Amino acid sequence: DGARYAPLEVEGLRKEFGGITAVDGVSFDVEEGTLTGLIGPNGAGKSTTFNLITGMLDPTAGTVRFNGEDITGLQPHEIANRGLARTFQIARELEEMTVLENMMLAPKGQVGESLWRSIMPMTRGSVREQETEQLERVWEVLDFFEIDHLAQEYAGNLSGGQRKLLEMARALLTDPDVLLLDEPFAGVNPTLEKRLLEHIHELRERGYTFLIVEHDMDLIMNNCERVIVMHQGRILKDGTPTEIKESEEVIEAYLGG
Ligand code: ADP
Ligand code: MG
Repeated sequence: DGARYAPLEVEGLRKEFGGITAVDGVSFDVEEGTLTGLIGPNGAGKSTTFNLITGMLDPTAGTVRFNGEDITGLQPHEIANRGLARTFQIARELEEMTVLENMMLAPKGQVGESLWRSIMPMTRGSVREQETEQLERVWEVLDFFEIDHLAQEYAGNLSGGQRKLLEMARALLTDPDVLLLDEPFAGVNPTLEKRLLEHIHELRERGYTFLIVEHDMDLIMNNCERVIVMHQGRILKDGTPTEIKESEEVIEAYLGG
């Protein structure tokens, strides 16, 4: 038993930069409703894998499938519109905008037309309605992440952790099935890290699926039911946290250089 539906399937993924093979034949899948962690030492190829999945980079070889469809080589917004979302760091220009403005811009500027927008006919008469609906959704998401009181605050004034909450809030606006997070806890204090984790667990209980790229092994071990370990562009181990902890190759990769 055990085989759950896997919305995301990566097969034989490979990326070369000049003479460097950053990702060297990586295959794995991410099962629905799980928190799956992708870990590995610096330079292991985690971010490159992430960028290949989300369309930021084109693979040298291999395929990425999402909900059964081959999405290899599609543009980032096309991938996001299919329900595979990622977080984006808040760009310089957006720091001078409020949290609310950042949220209102997110669906158009960041990830293309949002799902609930794309199912509505784009007639002139309904623009107002669409905006009202978007605003409702924005407040719903801000409220979920408990940052609604910061709506009028400039994004540039947010703490590291509050920024991460805003980044996740923006990614959620398109109501994706799967969320990819690249180092979501970097620069976050322990209190906000706990809150961020609680939100992630709550979203998972609601049916969302997460692939979390992290170099902090303990954090992933304590929160993910499935862990994929990369090393030198390859998958070193794929299993439960217990299986990973008992793996000598993994211990060696982290301790030895
Ligand atoms: P990680 O996120 O696990 O730290 P990366 O995916 O960032 O690893 O990097 C994997 C390898 O690919 C490293 O050796 C890195 O220097 C190299 N690399 C990543 N991006 C590029 C790039 N744009 N050009 C050249 N080499 C790169
Ligand atoms: Mg990285």
